[in-house]
Amino acid sequence: MHFWRLGILGLAAILSTTTLASFQSLPLSQSLEQSSIPLNQYALRSWNTRDGLPHNSINRITQSQEGYLWLATWEGPVRYNGRSFKIYDDTTVTKMRESGALSVEYDALQQKLIFSGPRGSVVTYDKQSWTPQVIGANFVFDTIVDHNNIRWAATAKGVYRLSDNGSAVHYTTADGLPTDFTFRLFATPTTGEHDARLYVGTRRGAAYFDEKTDSFISVDSISQAQVRAFTRLNNGTLIVANDDGLFYLAPEADDFEAWPYPMKDRVTALSEASDGCLLIGTFARGIGRLCHDSEDWLSIENGLPNSHVLDIFTEQNGTIWIGTHGGLVQLREALFRSFTPNHGLRGAYVRSVNTDSAGHIWVGTNDGISRQLSSESGAIAFEAVNGDPQLAALSVLSLAHGDTDVVYIGSYTEGLFQLTNGKVTARLNRKLGLASNEIRVVLPMSQTDLILVGTAKGLYLVRSSLGSLDVVRHYTVADGMAADFVSSVTIDGNGALWVSSTQSLSYFRPLSDGTWQPEPIELATFTGASNIFSGTFHNNRIWFATDHGMLSRSLNGNDWQWLSRRDGLPFDKTFTINFDADDNLWLGGARGILRIAKSDLEKWMIDNRVTINYQLFTEVDGMVSRQLTTGGPASIIDKHGRLWFASALGAVMVDPRVVAEYNSHAPAPIIESITTDNGELGTDKRIEAGNTRTEFRYVALGYHMPEALLYQVKLVGYDLHWINRGNQLETAYTALPPGDYEFMVRSRYPGGDWSEATRFTLHKSAFFYQQPWFWFTFSLTVIAFVSIALHLRIRTLQYTKRRLQRLVQKKTQELEAMALRDSLTGLANRRSFDQQLDHELHNSRRYGTPLSVALIDIDYFKQINDTYLHTGGDEVLKHVAKLLQSLVREVDGVARWGGEEFAIIFPQTRISDALQVLERIRVAIEKLRIAKFEQARITVSIGVTELSKEESSAELLKHADRALYLAKEQGRNCIVTD
Ligand code: GH3
Ligand code: MG
Ligand code: MG
Repeated sequence: MHFWRLGILGLAAILSTTTLASFQSLPLSQSLEQSSIPLNQYALRSWNTRDGLPHNSINRITQSQEGYLWLATWEGPVRYNGRSFKIYDDTTVTKMRESGALSVEYDALQQKLIFSGPRGSVVTYDKQSWTPQVIGANFVFDTIVDHNNIRWAATAKGVYRLSDNGSAVHYTTADGLPTDFTFRLFATPTTGEHDARLYVGTRRGAAYFDEKTDSFISVDSISQAQVRAFTRLNNGTLIVANDDGLFYLAPEADDFEAWPYPMKDRVTALSEASDGCLLIGTFARGIGRLCHDSEDWLSIENGLPNSHVLDIFTEQNGTIWIGTHGGLVQLREALFRSFTPNHGLRGAYVRSVNTDSAGHIWVGTNDGISRQLSSESGAIAFEAVNGDPQLAALSVLSLAHGDTDVVYIGSYTEGLFQLTNGKVTARLNRKLGLASNEIRVVLPMSQTDLILVGTAKGLYLVRSSLGSLDVVRHYTVADGMAADFVSSVTIDGNGALWVSSTQSLSYFRPLSDGTWQPEPIELATFTGASNIFSGTFHNNRIWFATDHGMLSRSLNGNDWQWLSRRDGLPFDKTFTINFDADDNLWLGGARGILRIAKSDLEKWMIDNRVTINYQLFTEVDGMVSRQLTTGGPASIIDKHGRLWFASALGAVMVDPRVVAEYNSHAPAPIIESITTDNGELGTDKRIEAGNTRTEFRYVALGYHMPEALLYQVKLVGYDLHWINRGNQLETAYTALPPGDYEFMVRSRYPGGDWSEATRFTLHKSAFFYQQPWFWFTFSLTVIAFVSIALHLRIRTLQYTKRRLQRLVQKKTQELEAMALRDSLTGLANRRSFDQQLDHELHNSRRYGTPLSVALIDIDYFKQINDTYLHTGGDEVLKHVAKLLQSLVREVDGVARWGGEEFAIIFPQTRISDALQVLERIRVAIEKLRIAKFEQARITVSIGVTELSKEESSAELLKHADRALYLAKEQGRNCIVTD
C-alpha cells in the first residue's frame, strides 16, 4: 500500500532569505497568482522499494506521450502507470551492459525513450523493443535529442554524437570541451537572439556545440564548476545550475548572468513549476521553490523521504515528480487542501470553522484559535490568535463574526468571548448569568446587535455591544422547547429558528415583537434520525445533517424528506450540510465528505425510490483526516466559494469548481496488454481457436487521483452493456466463442462523467469444426457418404440378385437338365425321349422322311441283380448305356426307357438301316465283358418298328413294344421287327 502524507511546513519556512528588491530582478516567468500554492500545501505522496520500486535512487524522470512516467533507477528503467511499477531490470531484455540506468530522455518526435547507464550503455526503447549502442566503457550520464534530431551522449570521457547506424563521433578536450568529464546535456530551440543550441554541462562549466567548426565552445559567462542541471523557462530564459550556484541567460542577453543572490545549497536539479516559480532540487535540503515574491522549501521535515534530490519533473497539469535517493515523490494539487498545526493551527482537533468580516478563515480547535493570514499571493497560511492569554489553550466549540471586526468565540468550558481586533472585549459565562459555560452555537442576527447563543442549557438571545454581552432572553423546555441542550440553530427565510438538540428538534415561530414561540417537532413520525448536528436554509427549504443522513423540509408545507442509508448513502452520520454555488450538496460526516450533484439530488427529491448517486472524498483526496467533527459551525463556505470543514486532524478545504472541473475530465484509459493462453496477443489481433482465457489490462494515466478512477468495460460481440469494474485494472474473458470483437474501456472519477472510450478490435479464430464452411462441407460429405453407401448397397444387392438369378438359372438349368436326363446312365430319360420322339415324328411328317424306333430290354436282369446285388446291376446298366450311345449316330437319340429297358430313335432311317445298327448293338452287348463282373453274360432283346403313315408316337411305341415282347418270346438275344 502506498502511504500518503501531506507536505507540512511551518510558517518559518516561508520567510524570505533575500530582499524584495532582488526578487523583483529574478528572471522568472510571470507568476500565475491563482494556482500558486506553496510546496507544503501540495499533497505529498512517496514511493520506495516497499511500494514496488526496484531501487530507492531515482536518477531521472520523464514522461512519454501516452502518459507513462519513466524512471531511470539504479536497478534499471521503470515504468509507472499511477497504480504499479513495471521494472525492466533484466539486461538480457534491455540489452544494457549493467542494470542501472543513469538517465532517461524522451524523444518526442520519434516517440522513443533513450536510457543511458554505466559501461558505455545507451539503449533506445521503442514499442517493447530495446536497441543498444555501446560508446566506450564509461558512465553515460545523460543523453539528448537536439534540434537537428541528433542524439548525443555525455560520458565521463567526453561527448558522443550518435548515428542511427550505430556509429558515433567522439568529442573530447581536443574538440574544445573544457574537460572530458561531461555530465548534462541540454538542447535549446531558437530563441530571441539565440540560435538553437546543444549545451553540455561538464565538471568545469558549460560549453555548446558549434556546427561550423564541428567542435565545442566554452561558455565563459558561467563559472568553471561542476554543472548539475539545466532548464528553460516558459519566458525563454535558460538556467544552469553548477556547484557555484545558478546562472541564467535571458532571451535577449548575450551572456549568462549569475543569479541575483547566491545559493546556499548546492543545486542538483531544476524545473519550472506550472505557476512560473523555479523549482530547485538540492544536494542536502530537499526542494525549494523560488518565486518572484517568496521562496519556500520542502525537505525531510515536511515529509520528503530524502533530502538529496536527483531530478525534478513537472507535468503539464502542475504535478511535480521528484527523484530522490529515498524514492519517488509526487507533489500534486489535491482536490482538498489540509491545514494542521504545521500550517499555523493552534490545535489539531478542529471543531469550528468560520470567516471574519473580511472573509478570512478562523479555525477553532481543542487548543485555541487560529486565523488566516492575509496573503497577496493567494497562499493560505494561519497564525494563532493568542493576543489574549484567556484564549491561549481554549477548547473552542463555536465561532462567528459580527458585522464589524467583532468575532465571537464559544468555548467548551469557559463560556462566550467577544473579540474585537483580536482582544477579548467581553465575556459571558455562568458567573455572568449563563446557565452553562458550554457554548455550542453563536449566531449573530444580521442587521442587529443581537446574537443567538446555544448552550447546553437552553438558547439565549444576547445583546452584544462593544465591551458588553447582555442576556435578553433565555429559552428552555419551560418555554416549549423539546430539550434544553442546543446543538444547532438554523434561521429560515421566514425568520423562524430551527433549534436542534441531541435527541430532538424545536421550531421557533417568529413573533411580531422579534421573539419566538418554541414548539417541539415530533421527529419519530417521519424519520429515524434523532440527532441533528447542523442545518442550512437553501432554495426555500430547511436542510439538516443528522445521525441518520439528511432531513429536509419545505417552508411551505410539512413535506419532510429523509435521505439515509436506505437511499444509498454510504454511512449514517452526517455532521455538516452545505450547498455550493452550483447547488451541489455537500454532506460532511464521520467517514468522509459526500458530494451529491444537483441533478442527482433533484432526481431523488422527485422520486425517493431512486438510489442516490454520490462522490465520497477521503484522505486520498488530500483530506488530512476523513473524520469530521461537530461544532458551530463545523463547515463554512468562504468568500471564494471554497468549502471548509473541521476535521479531527485539522481544517480541510475544497474548491467545488475544481471538483466539477476534474469530474468532467477523466483521462481515457490506454490498453496496456492483451494476454491469451499463449502470452501477449500478436499484431494480427487474432486469438487462437481453443484459447480459454483472454485478459485485458488497461489503465487511465491520470496521476491526480489514480486510485479513485472507476472503470467500465464492454466487449462488443459479447457484452450487451457496460460492465462496472470498479478500480480493477484488468478484465478477463474465458471461453469466448469465435468471432469478431471490440473491447471498449472507459474511466471516470466517482460522480463524474465517463471518459472517451478506448477501443480495440480483435478476432477469435474458430477451429475448423467451428466454422460454417466446415459444416457445409461436412454436411455435403455426409450426404455424399450416405449416397455412396446406399449406392454400394444397391449395387451389392443388385449383384447378389444377379448372382442369385444366375444361381437359380443354373440350378434351374441343372434341374431342367436333370429332368431330361437319366441320373444313373446320363442318357435321355423317358420324358426327354418322348419330346424327341414328338419332334422327330413332326419332322418326319413334315419332310416325309422315315423314322425308326427300337426298344431294348436286358435279358434276365433279375439274375444279374441277384448275383451282383443291386449296385452291380446299376453298374451293368451304365456300361450298357455307354455302349449303346457309342454305337449309334449323333442324330440318333438313345434313352433309358425305364428299369433295364432302353429306347433308340433313328431319325430319317428306314427300319432296314436301323436293323443293321441294332444287330451291331446286340452283338456288342453279347460280347461285353465288365471288369468287376467277368462272369456276367449280358444279352438284350430288341423290338424295332418304322413309323407308318398317320401313326401316333404312342402307337409307334406300342408296335415297338410288341416286337420286343415277340423277341423275348422267341428266346431272347434277338431282334424282332413289327
Ligand atoms: P426277361 O426280361 O428276360 O424276361 O427277364 P428279366 O429278369 O429281365 O425279367 P423282367 O424284365 O420282368 O425284370 C426286370 C428286372 O430288372 C426286374 C428288376 O429287379 C430289375 N431292374 C429294373 N430296373 C433296374 C435297375 O435300375 N437296376 C437294377 N439293378 N435292376 C433293375
Ligand atoms: Mg424287362
Ligand atoms: Mg429283362
